[in-house]
Amino acid sequence: MSTLIRNGTVVNAHSTFAADVLIEGERIKEVRQGIPSNPADHVVDATGLLVMPGGIDAHTHLDMPFGGTTSSDDFETGTRAAAFGGTTTIVDFAIQGRGTRMRDALDTWWKKAEGRAVIDYGLHMIVTDLGGAGLEDMDEMVDEGVASFKLFMAYPNVLMVDDATIFRALGQTAKNGALICMHAENGGVIDVIVQRALAEGKTAPIYHALTRPTTAEAEAVHRAIAMSEIAGAPVYIVHLSSEDALNEVREARDRGVPAFAETCPQYLLLSIEELERPDFEGAKYVFTPPLREKKNLGKLWDGLKHDHLQVVSTDHCPFCFEDQKILGKDDFTKIPNGGPGIENRLQLIYHHGVNEGKLSLNRFVELVSAAPARIFGMYPRKGVIAAGSDADLVLWDPSADHVISAKTHHMRVDYSMFEGFRVKGNVRTVMSRGEVIVDRGQFLGKAGRGQYLKRQARGGAWS
Ligand SMILES: [Zn+2]
Repeated sequence: MSTLIRNGTVVNAHSTFAADVLIEGERIKEVRQGIPSNPADHVVDATGLLVMPGGIDAHTHLDMPFGGTTSSDDFETGTRAAAFGGTTTIVDFAIQGRGTRMRDALDTWWKKAEGRAVIDYGLHMIVTDLGGAGLEDMDEMVDEGVASFKLFMAYPNVLMVDDATIFRALGQTAKNGALICMHAENGGVIDVIVQRALAEGKTAPIYHALTRPTTAEAEAVHRAIAMSEIAGAPVYIVHLSSEDALNEVREARDRGVPAFAETCPQYLLLSIEELERPDFEGAKYVFTPPLREKKNLGKLWDGLKHDHLQVVSTDHCPFCFEDQKILGKDDFTKIPNGGPGIENRLQLIYHHGVNEGKLSLNRFVELVSAAPARIFGMYPRKGVIAAGSDADLVLWDPSADHVISAKTHHMRVDYSMFEGFRVKGNVRTVMSRGEVIVDRGQFLGKAGRGQYLKRQARGGAWS
């Protein structure tokens, strides 16, 4: 099976050029102008369209247990929604149970994805326990293609690990070349503030945000980077949400420290006022870190532009408003933490970044595809339109208008965080390893066609 995409404009992280793209089987065979169409089985006309590498969302939580419930998208509905939004690869998180082996968690998450995933997926491992054979387990995971580990400095008694554990994990990656991803918030301090708020009868959703100061995020970012410097290993801060935290990353990078960070559309486009919506609707915006004051938004966009931030991911972790968010009706600490976004990342960052002049087209591709591919050990198989790479690509119509709404989205969740947002620029066709999986709003993929991605250690964070 071969496909020729003709007359499009290829956009990679560092170049934009008119070219045809010849796909043979699952891979890109050739990228140049004037490829003859006669040997190709299919010819696609991409006149007026951008041909970009498929999006890579390095932070998703499908089918994830949290607070007595489970995120509402599984690997089928979540990856299908991702495909509709131009994302062709995700990296989700397996969670090690305390006192259990990482292998068990990996098996559990493979089972969740098997037969369901529509697009290719990698897995990070969330480390909750380094007792027993923990450090050996990390090496074993790297051999299985789990080239990154996430640790929590927040959520005491659930996911939080102490500094010694973080430091030991960093030390192990200094040897095995994996990457440590940090949820950076000072969980101990936040917990005290939360208990104080509850004791004062403050139970509404807004207190989720008011009990998690940006200083608690910045402190943890600083500490995470300091520990990574001592250990001699890079560190990647997930879902960075505030100027205070950004300043810590920038300061470290200016000193040449290999510190990396991602942010998410919600932190770039929404602010704390959303949590004050009446009728408990603020709960739709309860996730961690919380939305911040408006003054942070522009700083985060600047951070993306100037490479103080390297990646935009979603932290997609949907819970339905009607029967899941409601669990916290009388106590904000019981609201399942998370929001939906896997489908809208490219639309939102393209529109508000590229159309509004905050990001170049190439920087956009870097942030949503090339950089996560490199940092997480998938490059150049993913993240670039080039001969030899997987034929994961998006034909993007820069003139398409779209209004984001829960009525039309494909995520299995009953609300949108971006309801009514108007965007210009949207997906026309999506290919995953040479197969058209979305075309003009039609889903043509199949559950279970997505493959587990073995990712390489010593990815882009190490060079
Ligand atoms: Zn997350």
